[in-house]
Amino acid sequence: MNAFRLAIFDLDGTLYRGDEALPYALEVLRELHRRGVIVRYVTNNSSKTVAQTAEKLLGMGFRVENGDVMTSALATARALAAAGHQTAWTVGEAGLNATLEAAGITITKDSPDALVVGICRSFTYEVLDEAMQVGLGGASFYATNRDATYPYEKGRFGPGAGTMVAALETALGRSPVTIGKPEPTMILDLIDGAGVLPTETIVVGDRLDTDIEAGLRAGTQVHLVLTGVATEAPAGVPSSPDLRALIQ
Ligand SMILES: [Mg+2]
Repeated sequence: MNAFRLAIFDLDGTLYRGDEALPYALEVLRELHRRGVIVRYVTNNSSKTVAQTAEKLLGMGFRVENGDVMTSALATARALAAAGHQTAWTVGEAGLNATLEAAGITITKDSPDALVVGICRSFTYEVLDEAMQVGLGGASFYATNRDATYPYEKGRFGPGAGTMVAALETALGRSPVTIGKPEPTMILDLIDGAGVLPTETIVVGDRLDTDIEAGLRAGTQVHLVLTGVATEAPAGVPSSPDLRALIQ
């Protein structure tokens, strides 16, 4: 790999699993900080706020400030603001609404500018119907991400945000603007904030179809670690069994 000034890490399967830091993650990040590399964290998970995500990382011993964390909820809030949307209805969880509200967006079912769909573990026919009516009313349709699956403890997977997005997409007959990885939106935002070039950036993750694809679309270097979803790397994708390759 070439030298990099900014390292952007996926969380689950890359830095931790469940509530435990993965082997070498803490020491590799400590060494990157020591070398002056800017470290940022990125997650498609829209159910937690930036503060909650940072708190989890801190609890495991990672060095992190709120401004170092990018979630698909935060990126969606920024996209809504950039599009001039002031009101939204959501299919999601408390962290999504809190993030949108913190960005000045009012959550309302009454003719909102936008309909935002993320992971919603209280998803029902009624939730779907409500959101469909909002969409039929003309609200702009956004997906925080389209992950098919959501990782739980002990390697179990449940339905991800993409399953709820697909339900609304089918009901409405139109596709959303998607914010999370593999779209490059969050990566480009972090690059912009750090004031570096895409080529001076490396995106590190455990999934080819989201992390690595997002990095490639943003024009960064990429690195796949085999500590999460991916068990092998296709030809041409730099990879390693764990994160130590980043400091060698
Ligand atoms: Mg991951």
